[in-house]
Amino acid sequence: MSESSQSSSGSSGAKGVKESFWDPVAGFGVTFRTMFKKVVTEQYPFEKLPTAPRFHGRHQLNRWPDGLEKCIGCELCAWACPADAIYVEGASNSDLEDADGNSQRFSPGERYGRVYQINYLRCILCGLCIEACPTRALTMTNEYELADDNRADLIYEKSDLLAPLLPGMEQPPHPMRLGDDEGDYYRGTTR
Ligand code: SF4
Ligand code: SF4
Repeated sequence: MSESSQSSSGSSGAKGVKESFWDPVAGFGVTFRTMFKKVVTEQYPFEKLPTAPRFHGRHQLNRWPDGLEKCIGCELCAWACPADAIYVEGASNSDLEDADGNSQRFSPGERYGRVYQINYLRCILCGLCIEACPTRALTMTNEYELADDNRADLIYEKSDLLAPLLPGMEQPPHPMRLGDDEGDYYRGTTR
């Protein structure tokens, strides 16, 4: 063996000993430094942090200020959905009064959403449905807790999705309180 090859193998052996000594020390150094950094672990579900304002969570079917529903049962949201997660059945409003003196009007205009379902087993929360909605009836909330222990409860019905009645709102069916026709609602010329 030549003299030069002997000296190179000797230096790599010394380097190996040095590395095997210092590498664990360097590793503990990382651990030690990290101990003083801000903890990013979230304590969910015990502490719930707010989502980003535009987070796509559970849907909501909105109302006009008098409580009538904004959904007109047009099914555009269902057609826009890439996951086939929405089912809508429209029906006609009527201003004729029933035996109890109540009209069968649920929204301004001709039609309303009689059946409205969103299947959260399919929904990917992409938001295409809310873009397709012509009346802004359908929007998305920031609510993300959509887990359940059975499949049936993840099919949300209209009653699960409708916005709550706020002060001044009246549970439909009832006549249009804010204008003479749906144009007043859509043009924002309500009284
Ligand atoms: S968010 Fe997307 S997947 Fe979910 S119902 Fe709307 S269009 Fe369908
Ligand atoms: S939520 Fe909007 S798009 Fe869907 S049926 Fe109702 S009005 Fe039409």
